Amino acid sequence: MSKLRVALIGNPNVGKTTLFNRLCGVNQKTGNYPGVTVDKKIGKFKHLDFQIEVTDLPGFDSIYPKSLDEELVVDYLKNNSGKNKVDKVVFVADGTNIKKNLYLLSQIKDLGYDIVLAINMIDVAKRKGIIIDTEYLSKEFGIHVVKISARKGEGVDELKSALLLKSPNARADDLKYLKPENRKVLEQFVSSTNSTNSFKSFLRITQENALPEVNIKKWKSEEAILRYQYVRKVLDNAITIDKSLATDTTSKLDKILMHKVWGYLIFLVVLLVIFQSVFSLSAYPMGWIETGFSWIHDTLASKLPPGSFTNFITEGLIPGLEGVVIFIPQIAILFFFFALLDESGYMNRIIFLMDRLMQKVGMSGKSVVPLISSFACAVPAIMATRTIENKRERLITILVAPLLTCSARLPVYTILIGLLVPNDKLIGFVSLQAIVLLGMYLLGVITSALAALVFKYIIKNKYRSFFITEIPRYLLPNFKNMLFTIWENTKAFVWNAGKIIVAASIILYVLGTNGGTKYNQADELFSAEYPSLSISEIDTKKSAYKLENSYLGMMGKSIEPAIIPLGYDWKVGIALISSIAAREVFVGTMSIIYSIDSEEDLTIMQKLDKEINANTGKRTFNFATCISLLLFYAFALQCMSTIAVTYKETKSLKWTSIQFLYMTVLAYVVSLIAYQLLS
Ligand code: GDP
Repeated sequence: MSKLRVALIGNPNVGKTTLFNRLCGVNQKTGNYPGVTVDKKIGKFKHLDFQIEVTDLPGFDSIYPKSLDEELVVDYLKNNSGKNKVDKVVFVADGTNIKKNLYLLSQIKDLGYDIVLAINMIDVAKRKGIIIDTEYLSKEFGIHVVKISARKGEGVDELKSALLLKSPNARADDLKYLKPENRKVLEQFVSSTNSTNSFKSFLRITQENALPEVNIKKWKSEEAILRYQYVRKVLDNAITIDKSLATDTTSKLDKILMHKVWGYLIFLVVLLVIFQSVFSLSAYPMGWIETGFSWIHDTLASKLPPGSFTNFITEGLIPGLEGVVIFIPQIAILFFFFALLDESGYMNRIIFLMDRLMQKVGMSGKSVVPLISSFACAVPAIMATRTIENKRERLITILVAPLLTCSARLPVYTILIGLLVPNDKLIGFVSLQAIVLLGMYLLGVITSALAALVFKYIIKNKYRSFFITEIPRYLLPNFKNMLFTIWENTKAFVWNAGKIIVAASIILYVLGTNGGTKYNQADELFSAEYPSLSISEIDTKKSAYKLENSYLGMMGKSIEPAIIPLGYDWKVGIALISSIAAREVFVGTMSIIYSIDSEEDLTIMQKLDKEINANTGKRTFNFATCISLLLFYAFALQCMSTIAVTYKETKSLKWTSIQFLYMTVLAYVVSLIAYQLLS
C-alpha cells in the first residue's frame, strides 16, 4: 500500500478540526512538537489503495508569526524536509469569508507546496447565495480546488481523491509581491545563494535579515499591497453573490430591508415609529417629572423662610434643574432605539442604503447615524462624527448637524405651535399641531441638505473617500450593551447640557431680580403713586416695572431695535439673549419672566397668550411673530454646548465661527422676511 503524508493548514476557525475528525475519525493521536507544549495531532485514513497520514497544524493568520502557534506552523512549513516531509498540503478555507484565506494561500503556494484547496462551509455559502468558481481558482493557482462541508460530509470523498492526483500545474512563483527594482535585488540574492525558491529567499531577507541593506518594512508592505491587489482581482473573478439564491435569514431579511424601493420606505417607517415613540412614550415620565418638581417647588416655598434666598431656589434653581431633567425620558428613549438598531445590525444597512444619497450632498452613509442622533441632541451627534474617516465629509456633517431638530427645540416649538394653532383643529384625524410640528422637522432636514450642498462646493476635497462597511449578520441585541449605550449617552447629555442650563437659569434669575436705581426705587414709587389701587393690582404693576428695569430688562431693551423688524419686543429679546446658552432656556426664561412679572395663577401658555406687545399694542404672540420665532429657533445656533463641541472636534476657530455665523444670519434673515411678509 502506498503512503502519502498530508498537512492540514489554514486560518483559525475555518473548520480544520472538523475536517480532521471527519477524515480520520478515531484514528488519531496527540503528540508533542519537539520542545514546545503545543499539541500535535496526527491521524490516518485509507483511500483506494493509499494509506494517508494527516497532521493537523494549528490555525494561523500570517507568515510573520505573532504567537507560539503561528511560529510553529511557519517553522514547519519553512523546514519541510527529511523524514517529516509532507507530500500535499490541504489548505482549508472558509467559503463564506475567503479573502483573508486566499491571501495566506497565495503565500503558501509561493513557498512551493503542492496544495489542494478545500473550500469549507459550502453549506453556509450556498445559503448566502455565494457562488464560487472553483475551475477559475484551480486555473489561477494551478491547484485542485474542492468545495466541501466538513460538518455535513459533503465533498469529502472528492477531497480524498484530489489528494491522490498530481496538481494540474504547480506553477513556479512569479514574484508578484515586489516592485521591479526590489525584484532585481531579490533575483540577485536568489542566484547568489543558489536558492530554488524565491519566496523562501524573500522570507530569509524579511524575517532573518539576510540582506542587511534592505528596508525590510518597505519590502513587507510592498508584498502586502501587491498580494492583496492580486487576491482582490482573483476574488472579483471567482466569486459572485447572487442574493436571489440566498435562503438564510440574514439574506432573506436583506432582500426586503436593502431593497431599492422597500429598503428606503421601511427605513422611513422605522424613523416614524422611533419619533412617534419618543414623543408618546416620554409623555408619562415627563408628566411625572413635572409633578415631582412642582411638589418640590411648593414644599420648599412653604417650608423655607420667605426672602430672596428662597425665591432664588424656587424661581431660579428649581426651574433650571427641571429644564434638564425633563429631557431625560426623550433622550433615553431615543438612545434605546439607536442601541437597538446598532446591536441588531440594521444600522449598518442604513449606512449602506443611504451612502449614495448622502454622497450627493457631500457626506457619506456614515453621516446618517450622527445626523439621526442630532434629532436628540447635536452634542453627541457631533461627537459621533469621529467614525467618518473622510475629513471633508466629517466637517460637513458637523456643520449641518445642528440644523436638525434637536429635542431642546421641542419645548420651544410646542409652546409656539400651541399659541399658533388651536389644539382642536383636525385635518383628517391628525391634529393640525402635529402637522406643523412635522413640518418643522422636515424644514430642518431640507435646510441641512441644502447647507451641506453649499459646503460641498465651498470645501475642497483633499481626501478620497473609501467606503467600506461590513454588513454583519442580524443579531438579537445584547441587552447589557444596550443599557450601557443608553446610560452613557444620557449621562453625557445631562452633564453637558445640564451644567449650562442650570448656570444660565441662575444667572437669569439674578439678572432679572436686580437692577439699577430705578429698580431699587420701585417700592417707594408704587406705594406713593397709586393709592387708589388694590394691593394685588399694585403688585402686578410693580413687578412689571421691576422686570423692565432689571439688568435683564435692560439687556432685552438694548437689543430691541434689532429685533423689532422680526416682530419681537424686549421681553422676547430677553429670551433670545438667554437662549444663546441653550434653546430650551427659552421656556424657562418665559416662565421666569412672566412669573416675576405677574401674580396670577395662569399656565405659561395662558400668560403668553395674554401678552401685549409694548410697541405695537397688539398681542405679542400673534401669527406672524410665532412663525418668525419658530423659524428663528429652527435655524439659529443657540447652544453653547454645540459651539464648544464643534470647536473640540474640529480644532478650528474658523469653522466654529462659520457654523455660528451662517446659522445665526440665516435665522435672522428668514425670520425677518417671514414677519415682514405675514404682518
Ligand atoms: P478550526 O478552528 O479551523 O479547527 O475550526 P473548527 O473545526 O473548530 O470549526 C469552527 C466552527 O465551524 C465550528 O463551530 C464548526 O462546527 C463549524 N464548521 C466547521 N465546518 C463547517 C461546515 O462545513 N459547515 C458549517 N455550517 N459549519 C462548520
